[in-house]
Amino acid sequence: MTTGATVWLTGLPSAGKTTIATALAETLRARGSRVEVLDGDEIREFLSAGLGFTREDRHTNVQRIGFVAELLASNGVLVLVPVIAPYADSREAVRKRHQVQGTGYVEVHVATPLDVCSVRDVKGLYARQAAGELTGLTGVDDPYEVPETPDLRIETQGSTVEQSAAAVHALLAERGLTT
Ligand code: ADP
Repeated sequence: MTTGATVWLTGLPSAGKTTIATALAETLRARGSRVEVLDGDEIREFLSAGLGFTREDRHTNVQRIGFVAELLASNGVLVLVPVIAPYADSREAVRKRHQVQGTGYVEVHVATPLDVCSVRDVKGLYARQAAGELTGLTGVDDPYEVPETPDLRIETQGSTVEQSAAAVHALLAERGLTT
């Protein structure tokens, strides 16, 4: 069985979390690892159906994802989690859960600046917020607590997707979580 671990990619909407996770998953699978990507939108449709975007609900959502991620990771799966997770205490609780179980955990801050994210606006959320059609957008009118000591911090502007995914891959290799 390969060593499992959770790789949490935290950052603003459109920072590049999902794109990096998808690219990295492909590389890791090609090398024979078992990989799962826990997609935030999919989780909200099923596992976290009914939860909203209050501080409490966001926290609950992150804890549920952390729970599932740890279960998979402790069974040899490399779990990639491209989910905003805006609150430091939520992220810390997930890290602790992994620590207690002796399961690998890596936090990657995809630190693409807000001005770049809002131009990318992959899901049109920034435009909807600006038009007054949406409130509570992380980084704009809802908090994003920047990780103080992530295992890795990368900015994606000026880098290709391949370069960004390779940076995360290098960290996993350094930690002995992949070859
Ligand atoms: P998030 O999951 O953080 O909300 P997405 O991955 O859905 O963000 O969107 C990020 C966008 O930025 C995509 O359109 C992607 O092609 C683009 N992008 C440009 N450069 C990079 C890079 N180096 N890494 C990741 N995404 C990048």
